[in-house]
Amino acid sequence: ASTWANVPQGPPDAILGITEAFKADTASHKINLGVGAYRDNEGKPFVLNTVREAEKRVVGKKLDKEYAPITGLANFYTAAAELAYGSNSAPIKENRLAVSQTISGTGALRVGAEFLAKFLPSKKILLPTPSWANHKAVFSAAGLEVGQYRYYDKSTISLDFDGLKADLEQAAPGTAVLLHACAHNPTGVDPTKEQWQAIFNVVKERQLFPLFDMAYQGFASGDCDRDAYAVRYFVDNGLPVALNQSFAKNMGLYGERIGAFSIVCESPEEKARVDSQLKIIVRPLYSNPPIHGARIAAEILNDAQLKQQWLGEVKSMADRMIEMRSLLREKLENLGSKKDWSHVTSQIGMFCYTGLSPEQVDRLASEFSVYGTRDGRISICGINASNVDHLAKAIFAVSG
Ligand code: PLP
Repeated sequence: ASTWANVPQGPPDAILGITEAFKADTASHKINLGVGAYRDNEGKPFVLNTVREAEKRVVGKKLDKEYAPITGLANFYTAAAELAYGSNSAPIKENRLAVSQTISGTGALRVGAEFLAKFLPSKKILLPTPSWANHKAVFSAAGLEVGQYRYYDKSTISLDFDGLKADLEQAAPGTAVLLHACAHNPTGVDPTKEQWQAIFNVVKERQLFPLFDMAYQGFASGDCDRDAYAVRYFVDNGLPVALNQSFAKNMGLYGERIGAFSIVCESPEEKARVDSQLKIIVRPLYSNPPIHGARIAAEILNDAQLKQQWLGEVKSMADRMIEMRSLLREKLENLGSKKDWSHVTSQIGMFCYTGLSPEQVDRLASEFSVYGTRDGRISICGINASNVDHLAKAIFAVSG
């Protein structure tokens, strides 16, 4: 018998499964709202102009292809940290931020998870319900115990703030809490500034450890500073946090795998110890990260003019998503839908949690060739001026 005769068949990845079904559909009006990648108004993948320009400059420099250091390119991760924490951030100025380039946001989460599994005494993390599906897999794989806290209330299609607070108040001191910094995936529901302040108070009082995941900086409001509000509020008010960053969405560098993981430390001496452990974690995982995307991101972030232009491109992507939300809601209302669709425009970022049931999502696919995930999540990026009418009609038909 084969050595692998006993290898069981694993389940397919839910989102990739949708892409397969979409590809197999021959209808010309089919729409894929499953993927979490930005599309332009023609439904095409989009490469930012600033990325094209930065790439041209990088190639023009005829740099070598030597290995990066274990924690990546310093001119990339320093600029990435400044984008997140702000250039006046105390931990950066005081040289007490441990930071490493990572294999995009997922790699940041995994490096962070390995660090917590080694050094957080509780070895326990709480995730919001629901959360990005890969979170649980990443933290479990690193050996952490994964629990949940309430986040989303199905009945109101909004934040279950009381549930969230109550669950964090119950958490044992020393437990890590994963917080989506902005543009919560999959719900598109973010806490308000006041709610963030209240979350900060609970996290501080209960002595929980805040781990932020910021995969969408700039994609929520269109403004990278505004989207960093929660992270900066926690840090500026004295709570040491850890942070996962991704440049997949806001630079459209999906396949380049560019991200960063950072931990706010108490002193430069502590930072040095944490840095040394990040290296020990990364070395046997992948030795060192890829250089090309990091060079592109560094070129953009370190050139004042190019950075300004990039911030404008981020805003235009966010604005297009906000516009598509309004258009979808307007079309649903114009069709005569009696349902309240205000959540379509009040939610934020790349995703909309429609409130549709799994059965209604199945009907969207089988009757209208519209593909989303069975939790009712649709990717706003997949909507454009040419397909929004069909989408609204389809959602209206299945939701009654
Ligand atoms: N975190 C969240 C909440 C996400 O939605 C994603 C991607 O969809 C990621 C992290 C990681 O993405 P990547 O590894 O492509 O940067």
